Amino acid sequence: MKRRSLKKITQAVTISEGAGVTVHRTIGTPALRNLDPFLLLDYFSSNNPGDYIAGFPDHPHRGFITLTYMLNGHMLHQDSMGNKGDLRSGSAQWMKAASGVIHSEMPQQSSGLMRGFQLWINLPGREKMSAPEYQDFSPNAIPIIKTKGVRVKLLSGQYHGHLGPINDPNSQVHYLDVTLEKNKLFSYTLNEHLQGFVYVFEGQAKIDDITLRQHTFAHLGDGDTVALKANDSGARFILVAGQPINEPIVQHGPFVMNTRKEIERAFADYRDGTLVRNKADFTCV
Ligand code: FE
Repeated sequence: MKRRSLKKITQAVTISEGAGVTVHRTIGTPALRNLDPFLLLDYFSSNNPGDYIAGFPDHPHRGFITLTYMLNGHMLHQDSMGNKGDLRSGSAQWMKAASGVIHSEMPQQSSGLMRGFQLWINLPGREKMSAPEYQDFSPNAIPIIKTKGVRVKLLSGQYHGHLGPINDPNSQVHYLDVTLEKNKLFSYTLNEHLQGFVYVFEGQAKIDDITLRQHTFAHLGDGDTVALKANDSGARFILVAGQPINEPIVQHGPFVMNTRKEIERAFADYRDGTLVRNKADFTCV
């Protein structure tokens, strides 16, 4: 057993996305372009409707997976293949855009808290032009495991004999939402070959002797166990890990491919209206 230490710490950058939604971005910034297999991590949290009301009107994706986790609020997802997904507090949505999807994510509330994460997971070259897939998970499909002072919401991975519902064979993604009461310890076993990170969104926690404050992104070093301890304030964070792909990444906005030529093709297909293929290509799991 080897404890994972900290490789690098990055603070989130506040930017405006979609039609003017304020997000805290860590992966996908100049300081951290990507973290194979992850391409982007956004955390959004606001009580101010002006920060989220414009939502994310129709936009395309090709070449990767989007994984959205709603902590608070209500969004409606609609896509080019006719899927409709109600994203309510505590639910998750997994969308393999693969060869191409056009979708919108629009708030269904005009006041109150809107809070959650969006993570982009890359696809290996052999999967980039495969048929898109879509699946959403209601709050009661996601196990919550409570032990003394530790609450784990398990979107993906294995914890205390429970299995998270999201199962991606390519990335082997692990995704845990962990709440620790003050001074509580949490540990989790992660295979050595997985790339892992922690994002603290409430309170403060320590890895080794290093304090991670709110909006701190911690890239985990080599090893097979992660251990965090909450400070006096308690802490809430996500712990995410996945299998690196080790292929070239060429990204242009919502298209992520292996080569420049494939990106040009994505733009041409979008222009020509062929980014999205016929409905029969689409698998609703
Ligand atoms: Fe999107």
